Amino acid sequence: HRVVEAEASGDERAVEAALRPRRLDEVVGQERVREQLALVLAAARGRERTPDHVLLSGPPGLGKTTLAMIIAAEMGSPLRLTSGPAITHAGDLAAILSGMNESDVLFVDEIHRMSRPAEEMLYMAMEDFRVDVVIGKGPGATAIPLEIPPFTLVGATTRAGLLPGPLRDRFGFTAHLEFYEPAELDRIVARSAALMEVPVDADGRAEIASRSRGTPRIANRLLRRVRDYAQVRSDGTVTRDIAHRALDLYEVDASGLDRLDRAVLDVLCRRFGGGPVGVSTLAVAVGEERETVEEVAEPFLVRIGFLARTPRGRVATPAAWSHLGLTVPAGAPF
Ligand code: ADP
Repeated sequence: HRVVEAEASGDERAVEAALRPRRLDEVVGQERVREQLALVLAAARGRERTPDHVLLSGPPGLGKTTLAMIIAAEMGSPLRLTSGPAITHAGDLAAILSGMNESDVLFVDEIHRMSRPAEEMLYMAMEDFRVDVVIGKGPGATAIPLEIPPFTLVGATTRAGLLPGPLRDRFGFTAHLEFYEPAELDRIVARSAALMEVPVDADGRAEIASRSRGTPRIANRLLRRVRDYAQVRSDGTVTRDIAHRALDLYEVDASGLDRLDRAVLDVLCRRFGGGPVGVSTLAVAVGEERETVEEVAEPFLVRIGFLARTPRGRVATPAAWSHLGLTVPAGAPF
């Protein structure tokens, strides 16, 4: 079947795509979002209208692309995929929009990274299903209005707060995806293992789930690495001991922190005495982009109570110090 075929291709992204739930009822967790979305889609189907525009926000790997694909599938509409950084000129967006058919679903990943002129064109397209295509330059330029058939925009962003208000306001339905609970990740690992035909016992599953950083994409990736380990170093069955050894090898610690998470905590505690320190300074110190620290590492560290955002900067909590095996120094914030 498709997962086994994708694995045969040796392409990790193909495997990830093959593991995607295809229907709303295959999606694990996110009950509230699922119920709300099901209602929006059912109502649109009942009225024979295209559904309202949908904005999905949340850290990477929590299921935004998956939900966009499901929205299209449930509406029986084709999905077109693009991303904010791919739309550098308003013309790029005009080309995409002019090629749309009635009730198509357009998925724009990282929608907060679209250029300003494209963003302004998108406002009009979302509201009036019309864009003005500017032909020529300077005083001779003319704007040609272009009608677009009604479509549904699904935007994804790591942080809804990064979107300008006027854009955010044009979405009829906004959902924020939260990190997953261990029990939900356990179900995701079980589902993926079954599709990949990997034998995993309950303890092995729990071990992978608890180290997955609350993120389905990571759960699936760790499952693949643990599967490799089980296959090469053992009899192929994933047990707690195998999962434990494999994940240690790949430097995923017991709290699920990866190298970047640990680097952020390490710098925060050892170099800056636990903070408060600005996120840009932290990013430079760990040699990463500010966005990566802010949108990838930080949300999880905050979620598990290792890091706090304060008006004066980021602060390590006592739990972070103890996770690093350090004692909280006198005078540390908190
Ligand atoms: P995002 O677009 O938010 O970065 P994706 O939709 O690409 O995340 O999801 C990443 C992977 O995680 C996909 O392969 C998908 O199989 C899996 N996944 C995400 N959310 C769920 C979920 N709720 N249930 C099962 N699998 C999920």
